[in-house]
Amino acid sequence: MIKVTLLGTGNPVPDPNRGGSATLVQAGGNAYLFDAGRGVLQRLLGAGVLPGMLSAVLLTHLHSDHITDLNDVITTRWVMSPVPSVTRLWGPQRTQEVVDGILAMLQPDIEYRLAHHEDLSWTPDVAVTELNAGVVLQENGVRIVAEATDHRPVEPTIGYRIEHDGHVVVIGGDTIPCDGLDSLCANADIYVQTVLRDDLVSMIPMQRFQDTIDYHSSVAQAAQTAARNRVKKLVLTHMVPTPAPGSAHEWIAIAAEHFDGEIIFGEDLTVIETQ
Ligand SMILES: [Zn+2]
Ligand SMILES: [Zn+2]
Repeated sequence: MIKVTLLGTGNPVPDPNRGGSATLVQAGGNAYLFDAGRGVLQRLLGAGVLPGMLSAVLLTHLHSDHITDLNDVITTRWVMSPVPSVTRLWGPQRTQEVVDGILAMLQPDIEYRLAHHEDLSWTPDVAVTELNAGVVLQENGVRIVAEATDHRPVEPTIGYRIEHDGHVVVIGGDTIPCDGLDSLCANADIYVQTVLRDDLVSMIPMQRFQDTIDYHSSVAQAAQTAARNRVKKLVLTHMVPTPAPGSAHEWIAIAAEHFDGEIIFGEDLTVIETQ
């Protein structure tokens, strides 16, 4: 069984009820965090997981709404751990540059804590692996595969396929439909996709909003990707624009025009499990 917990279902616009992009995938005793948006550690605790319990952190891309609380994951793991503990981090090219910047920003804090706590004698340790595609890791019966996705002009971006005991979960990230996404989604049990309502965004009289239409999957496109690849459950997250209260049925109805399987409208801490 693979368990997916939506930690943050929000978009870049702050929302009192939706954290920033982050999804927890638990399988075979491992806990993997995909992206680390606003409020990730509060939601992680809501799912019963401490930062030190994360097996690895994997980033889909380096847009701020997906990484803004990565510093919190790194520093809180460091300061809460009784022994040195490495944060293993996978992401696209330039992930190391982001981590170097985070560690530079945390330098005063690191110095204060090292000086104050006698039993803390090591600095935060982040092992970064940058990749475009391929097998990310294989451990304890879990295999994670990455493929290039299409969120241009943001590039590179990657999606992930998590396999365990015959079950498959896909974290699409911000992307339009593309070959890489199709190969990740083939026969998946659960496909988590960040989505946008082009019918609504096109009515917002602000160019900066309208710019987002052409580099996200619309709800219809996410549903078409799910249908084309024989996915069992489609999970909508990172909804753009922020859904009006009580509008979940509209989003589901749009997807249902293109996809016969189960459609889940994501809220923070929604849990979805494979059989
Ligand atoms: Zn993005
Ligand atoms: Zn995003």
